[in-house]
Amino acid sequence: MVLVCKQHVHKALKIIFLPHIQSISDDNKLLEEVKCQVCGKQADYKLYNFIPQRKRAI
Ligand SMILES: [Zn+2]
Repeated sequence: MVLVCKQHVHKALKIIFLPHIQSISDDNKLLEEVKCQVCGKQADYKLYNFIPQRKRAI
């Protein structure tokens, strides 16, 4: 998972394989420390991998 500000969304999209993007609500910004992992400013978006579940053997 990567946290980034608006300026670094595109950079983060290139880093992550199969990226999913989620905007961080103002409430969450107050509750937890969310900082852009590129520049250290307040993060606005959360990016994460979509990891498919393993197929279960029948
Ligand atoms: Zn940034």
